[in-house]
Amino acid sequence: MNSDKKESILIIGGGLIGLSLAYEFAKKNFHVEVLSKKRSEAAGFVAAGMLAAHAEGLSDELLSFGQESQNLIPQWIKEIEIDSEISCGLKNCGIVVPFEERKDLEKFPTYKYGQYLNREELEEQVYGLDAKWKHGLLFKQDGQIDNRRRLMRALEKACTFHGVQFQEGTNATKLIYENNKFKGVQILNAFGEIKSIFYEKAIICCGAWSRKLMTDLPIYPIKGQMLSIQGPINRINRVLFGPKTYMVPRDDGLVIVGATVENAGFNTGNTPQGIKTLQDGIKSLFPEAVIWPHMEHWWGFRPATPDLKPIIGKTHLKNLFLAVGHYRNGVLFSAITSKLIYKVITKCKLNDKENIFLEKFNYSRFKETD
Ligand SMILES: Cc1cc2nc3c(=O)[nH]c(=O)nc-3n(C[C@H](O)[C@H](O)[C@H](O)COP(=O)(O)OP(=O)(O)OC[C@H]3O[C@@H](n4cnc5c(N)ncnc54)[C@H](O)[C@@H]3O)c2cc1C
Repeated sequence: MNSDKKESILIIGGGLIGLSLAYEFAKKNFHVEVLSKKRSEAAGFVAAGMLAAHAEGLSDELLSFGQESQNLIPQWIKEIEIDSEISCGLKNCGIVVPFEERKDLEKFPTYKYGQYLNREELEEQVYGLDAKWKHGLLFKQDGQIDNRRRLMRALEKACTFHGVQFQEGTNATKLIYENNKFKGVQILNAFGEIKSIFYEKAIICCGAWSRKLMTDLPIYPIKGQMLSIQGPINRINRVLFGPKTYMVPRDDGLVIVGATVENAGFNTGNTPQGIKTLQDGIKSLFPEAVIWPHMEHWWGFRPATPDLKPIIGKTHLKNLFLAVGHYRNGVLFSAITSKLIYKVITKCKLNDKENIFLEKFNYSRFKETD
């Protein structure tokens, strides 16, 4: 670690994307400060941790973005693990997507990237799937990481190792700017004090709450409820990705079950209907797990945009940048987002794909249609 920091940057939001960015910049010798309203509400602590560019059925530039990130993840995680001394539970376990009808499988956007499975082959992959699933696609490229118990903590520790300063319990309430140039933010800190802090550059990554700070951002929350059950170790070795429910088996037999998709504003808490939806989903996918002990339930907010693609790059204010709207795939997209934003801010040469991502995920795409 080098204490002779070159430049400073403010990261507004200490969730998954904020920590990934903080790590990237601090590692490359920036002085980094992270403002974090509430650590525990971050979707990074909620997500199932699937790395599912193909099983999610992404298409076009979003698929390419996911694939590029998936390629970066092993090395990125290796560095985080070295700096944090925490193993992140990255597993290239493959994801099985089951179908009742072959015609639905053939219509699946990432069909050509998967290995076709008939019922017998499905059973070989995951013995005990409900009998209605007659076909499947196996995406060997996809996998998972244990974001809730490991990656988020590892990122925090790796950031601290590289000298990142955290202001926990601090809400950035207002942007300060002059002549279209970002100057700083007004904050309400954990002691109830209102202060202004000034930085040369900043990145907004406030997840589902981003619109509260920058009101013209078209970001809204999509609530997801989740639960976990304890199964026998190694009973399921692949992630199961059903049409309404997915099951993500960790090494210790814990299975993460998700998730509802609710346009419910910022209404917190699990609901009886939400839990029932998940339990019905387990029954429909993998019936024997219905009786596995229920361990925990939780919820969180995905940061969504009108076209369900992220907003990454510059804003109308000079020196203020955005990394928001990662919706259902923020864990998958975290590696590429941090590398791309670093390149934009430090004016590194971008390759063709990176230029396309910045063009497609530009904040101005919403302004043009106003
Ligand atoms: C149920 C569910 C399941 C998911 N499963 C997956 C999955 O399997 N795979 C996958 O790739 N992705 C998944 N995701 C998506 C992923 O979790 C998100 O895309 C990702 O966490 C977004 O990261 P973020 O940093 O933008 O937001 P968050 O992680 O939500 O962090 C935002 C942080 O900013 C803070 N903040 C907000 N406003 C302010 C402010 N004004 N000042 C200071 N701090 C502020 C908040 O307190 C919060 O801590 C899932 C999400 C949910 C909800």
